[in-house]
Amino acid sequence: MSIIDIDKQYIANTYARFPLQLVKGKGSLVYDENGKEYIDLGTGIAVNGFGVADEGWKQAVIQQLDKIQHTSNLYYSEPCALLAQELCQRTGMKKVFFSNSGAEANECAIKAARQYGRENKGKEYYTIITLKNSFHGRTITTLSATGQDVFHDYFTPMTEGFVYAAANDIDEVKTLSKTNKCCAVMIELVQGEGGVTALDKEYVSALAQFVREEDMLLIVDEVQTGNGRTGALYAYMDYCISPDVVTTAKGLGGGLPIGATMLGQRVENLFLPGMNGSTFGGNPIACAGALDILRRIDEKLLEEVREKSDYIFSQLSGAKGVKSVSGKGLMIGIECEKDAGAVIAECMKRGVLVIKAKHKVRLLPALNIPMELLEKSIKTLKEVIEE
Ligand SMILES: *Cc1c(COP(=O)(O)O)cnc(C)c1O
Repeated sequence: MSIIDIDKQYIANTYARFPLQLVKGKGSLVYDENGKEYIDLGTGIAVNGFGVADEGWKQAVIQQLDKIQHTSNLYYSEPCALLAQELCQRTGMKKVFFSNSGAEANECAIKAARQYGRENKGKEYYTIITLKNSFHGRTITTLSATGQDVFHDYFTPMTEGFVYAAANDIDEVKTLSKTNKCCAVMIELVQGEGGVTALDKEYVSALAQFVREEDMLLIVDEVQTGNGRTGALYAYMDYCISPDVVTTAKGLGGGLPIGATMLGQRVENLFLPGMNGSTFGGNPIACAGALDILRRIDEKLLEEVREKSDYIFSQLSGAKGVKSVSGKGLMIGIECEKDAGAVIAECMKRGVLVIKAKHKVRLLPALNIPMELLEKSIKTLKEVIEE
């Protein structure tokens, strides 16, 4: 039996996988079981920020692996403490809760918001306003936070306490906050799964101000946008706002599972022992790798991310067969005249891996993708789109 057959027989039927098995890689190149080479513009959905088998990250992981692989949160551990320190020093946030995924990081943010509402406004103030077309995760509660009906169909009853406003419509947020007892607003600054669209700056600053006036929290879900992806260390830094809670995951671990919920000054002391926890959260190996990743996302790298982003936008905007290009940094959505699925399949044949977001082709290349590989892959992509 082939691996594909074994997978089809034994893996739960929740994924519509591409007919491709990846076995190894180096940097932005990955290989299938027949040795065919691909330029990877998907990075495992914005996870392998420095590509595959990055030397620095690998050394950090191996060194920690030689010491201790897991401690539990009953004890102190260096990688976890140092990573939290680095995150706080680089963002101005005050404390970090570590978990293992984006959904868990958001669960913690939702707990923080409910606890904030309860302590400051009364226990009936538990509703969180999220945006239509958002994506916040796959647990029942983060699905409920996700403002897309398609995600709500299967698993009713959903967790209560979420209402949805159209993106970039501040009046709808104001109306919802009048008709519901709210503790927070939760947003993605660039909606990823929803189609790679960035929120307007004026809207975000009006939202930040309104949330403050109403004594609610501003939660920014940076699970996908964080860790250099949009050309800033965290996307909120480009929006000139100070969120109360920032969640991140995907790119933080460089390929290992990790989630982080960063708590700002208004909420830093909200949690007490026993109020949240995780067996694997803050795992020393994941944290050691993440610390290497985070330290290397410096101004020089971010400048390169912005330059590569400009290159992609200039190549594709107005190109034949391209209807629109959206997103920010190296998180880009391309609306094509052709069907996105057909573009993805043809690119794969020609050795370029791109993925999908709604009806768009989505690009999430490694932050350090060499310019020559980027040029080569964008040339192929343009040819496929234009045919
Ligand atoms: C991927 C994603 C999540 C969920 O992360 P998981 O690690 O799959 O749980 C949540 N929010 C956003 C914005 C995401 O892109």
